[in-house]
Amino acid sequence: MKTAIYPGSFDPVTSGHLDIIRRAANIFDRLIVCVMVNAGKHPMFSLEERVDLIRRVTADLSNVEVDGSSELLAEYARRRGSCVVVKGLRAGSDFENEFQMALINRKINPELDTMFLTANSQYMYLSSSLVKELGSYDADLKDFIPEPIIPDFRRRLEERNQRHK
Ligand code: ADP
Repeated sequence: MKTAIYPGSFDPVTSGHLDIIRRAANIFDRLIVCVMVNAGKHPMFSLEERVDLIRRVTADLSNVEVDGSSELLAEYARRRGSCVVVKGLRAGSDFENEFQMALINRKINPELDTMFLTANSQYMYLSSSLVKELGSYDADLKDFIPEPIIPDFRRRLEERNQRHK
């Protein structure tokens, strides 16, 4: 059974992420979406909240598991018995960084390979930070994040605004 891991910050999960999740779940027997702790970032949603949001929008995908981890990805993959990491590649911007990460992960765990799925042209420009930016201007978000989580996202934006008043 081939298990792949799709790691990221998913703060929050976007329609671009969900597109990669669906496509990867069609290719592999099992897909583990893993929310990784990123020490350099101040997330909008806690690790548990991000896991929960992804679980809700992938509930119809029976071979998708959602998890969170503060381990190194290469160690996490080893522990979960997976030898392949899936990444989404947007035009230009992702390449350098993803290439470097793939090489480092392979150095730490030589059995680990990284496979890239090209972003859907519809979502090529989409990132979680862009969604946050758009949200702060009250823009319509239905093309950018999965509909079931829009209310959660709006609520969090409001809480943040209240705190900064
Ligand atoms: P970001 O904060 O930039 O949205 P994440 O760390 O949450 O990124 O992304 C996890 C993975 O998903 C990365 O491999 C990233 O390249 C990929 N990804 C992010 N947005 C998209 C998108 N719109 N389409 C395809 N892949 C994406």
